[in-house]
Amino acid sequence: MGGIRRSTSVNRYVPVSMIVDVGEAWTPPNPYSLAGPKDWRPPLSRVIFHETIHYWQYIGHTHLIRLVEEDWGRLRHFDKTREILPPGALRRGFSQRKPEIGFSTQDLVEAHARFWDVQALGPPLLIELELDAPNRDVGEILTRAHYERLKAEGKIWHHYDQDGQGVGYSSLSFDLAMRLAAGRYALPYLELLEKTNDLIAAALFPLCVHFALHSREPADFYLALVARLAGQVGLERGRAIEQAWRALYVDVWREAELLHCELYGCEFFTGQAEIHESLLYQEHPGYRMAHTMLALACDHIQKNRPPQFLVGPVEMPAAMRALWTLDYLLGCCGMTVSRSPDLLAFTAPPVIRFAEGRSWKIGEIFDQLPYQSSAPCTVAQPPPRAGLAQALLEVDEKWNEMLLAGL
Ligand SMILES: [Zn+2]
Repeated sequence: MGGIRRSTSVNRYVPVSMIVDVGEAWTPPNPYSLAGPKDWRPPLSRVIFHETIHYWQYIGHTHLIRLVEEDWGRLRHFDKTREILPPGALRRGFSQRKPEIGFSTQDLVEAHARFWDVQALGPPLLIELELDAPNRDVGEILTRAHYERLKAEGKIWHHYDQDGQGVGYSSLSFDLAMRLAAGRYALPYLELLEKTNDLIAAALFPLCVHFALHSREPADFYLALVARLAGQVGLERGRAIEQAWRALYVDVWREAELLHCELYGCEFFTGQAEIHESLLYQEHPGYRMAHTMLALACDHIQKNRPPQFLVGPVEMPAAMRALWTLDYLLGCCGMTVSRSPDLLAFTAPPVIRFAEGRSWKIGEIFDQLPYQSSAPCTVAQPPPRAGLAQALLEVDEKWNEMLLAGL
């Protein structure tokens, strides 16, 4: 895949300040950008959605929380002493591609976000947006003419309804949309696809990345987990893919747990447990808030979701099943049922920043949703989010100051 360049867009998520940066022109806040990105201004929503997936990755995955903890430590040190410490071991390892693996933790993070972009927008829409977008270099994989030809041959949609509207997408279009992610971002998915088939790859991919991102060495762990699971999973065609993720979650967890113990001699933590143990919980305003909101979400799941919604064995205590379910929703964060209401109502990103510094303090919108909870923060006593956005913008400013001072 040599010669394929990454998109040159400026979009990014800033983990240490939790700010979702979309770099597009400001527009009035609209929660549909996250609740239904394919139905509300898709060219803009897809950017907001993609960067928000990163936000959920960074509050939901142990390895990434530890990475932020490292960066936070450097920032705190700089703030106190004006001395710049070198990046920590996890930060240095994040973009490293070991030759025997071929991709990095960062590639895995991007592939996972890409997978949810494709699921949430649908491959045909995403492919068309990318073929149309300036600054996106997809021509080496797919040209507009090639795409139109595939469409005319009936290879993009599964079938057409009476009005000529495409219904269901083909596995070829899903595959193309993943490959359009460019270069190594697609590698982790292609690796799994090679060992299984399109159905099993789509079912296992988000779960394997999810547990890999809880592990000590995500890229290595992902490959080992894929090798372990590839021959073990059989799925019937024709069932909704959401059912496959739900059904496989506990099995993949068990295999991941065994593998983690074999490789590193210990179990892994879920993201919520990791935040609680982390310095971030004591010191970082955004992570402290995220921890509270995750606890509220868990509580909401336990009280309001029907038992069949919960993952894990039925004989397990409901509180434990709710914890597992939240972990599952964070791993499958692009899924419609994950987003609405659980993730959006409780863990919408606190700041979504547009061009010229204007932002959506989107958490405030979702705080108004009437969810009850017995946790210390309730709707009647909501957590103080208004000040949070400002605090995070200040963290962002300090972080930029440190990066500039280090140049
Ligand atoms: Zn990304």
